[in-house]
Amino acid sequence: MNITFLDLKAINLAHRDELKAAFERVLDSGWYILGQEVKAFEQEFADYCGTPHAVGVSNGLDALHLILRAWGIGEGDEVIVPSNTYIATWLAATYAGATPVPVEPDEATCNIDPARIEAAITPRTRAIIAVHLYGQPADMDAIMAIADRHGLKVIEDAAQAHGALYKGRKVGSLGHAAGFSFYPGKNLGALGDAGAVTTHDAALADKVRVLANYGSQQKYHNELQGFNCRLDELQAALLRVKLPHLDAETRRRQEIAAQYQQGLQDCSLTLPTVLADTTPVWHLYVVRSAKRDELQQQLAAHGIGTMIHYPIPPHLQPAYAGLAYRQGDFPIAERIHQQVLSLPMGPTMNDEQVSIAIAAARACSV
Ligand SMILES: *Cc1c(COP(=O)(O)O)cnc(C)c1O
Repeated sequence: MNITFLDLKAINLAHRDELKAAFERVLDSGWYILGQEVKAFEQEFADYCGTPHAVGVSNGLDALHLILRAWGIGEGDEVIVPSNTYIATWLAATYAGATPVPVEPDEATCNIDPARIEAAITPRTRAIIAVHLYGQPADMDAIMAIADRHGLKVIEDAAQAHGALYKGRKVGSLGHAAGFSFYPGKNLGALGDAGAVTTHDAALADKVRVLANYGSQQKYHNELQGFNCRLDELQAALLRVKLPHLDAETRRRQEIAAQYQQGLQDCSLTLPTVLADTTPVWHLYVVRSAKRDELQQQLAAHGIGTMIHYPIPPHLQPAYAGLAYRQGDFPIAERIHQQVLSLPMGPTMNDEQVSIAIAAARACSV
């Protein structure tokens, strides 16, 4: 039996009737941008994250970018980012005109290593973007303490971590602001691109809202040179269907992760390490192997779909050739990128599929 890496169709068809009803509601309303659906979703998502404010935006990258813009971070400023992340984290900084300054991860958690942040701070540093990679919370208390000492802002890149807990608190409520993605493959996924900013800061929420809507609070009055980065009514309505199911879907991901941890514990793969006092939401279940490419090929031969998150670190992407980094500059991130493999993971996987994936991984000679 073939096991697909992520069965997006099954995930959405589980809510088929509700999604169709939401679509019809928006269609029949005749109102498609900045209306009641976005407003209601913002309130529901803010409540979910434990923040007073959420602002719906076009996608996760725009969420991060608009936060930096709203703080006036740009040309001449530096933003600390993980060397081990999806490139969008870096692009947010460069969209704003700032320079991303990479900091290596903790080898065990793959998240930014707080012990290495201070060495990267300069007089130009304005902010730190902490990523909760693979759905595992970054060590936010340590990061916030450093930021407080140096007067820096902290953004959580929570694109992979909807609902994850750090010391009992939801991600998205831990930094000065957070960016979420609702890209279809994320734990809370729209049927297109969508995102949100969450924050405790009312002024920041207002500024992001204005920037995302052409710099305008009142139609045809533009206070700022803004952007068009709005969440639309249709995606908001579809997200309102899926948000109430998120915790159940997360619990299923957690069961699958526990089965992987148990089933793979005594084989040659390096399994994910969970930071103490955190509850990850397992956007991805990522193992490591020195023979990753062979492992992936052997699993493919068994019909097991896997993916690599990610094959090339941002500092070695042609897109960032201008920063003049070389192979070897961020060896921990480079090693992680060479060794990681994401096993099938998703809320619609059943126990039999998980067992088959585990048996196949155990049978691989790597
Ligand atoms: C998906 C993702 C983003 C970007 O979100 P989009 O909605 O695709 O723009 C940013 N950061 C991380 C870590 C992501 O996984």
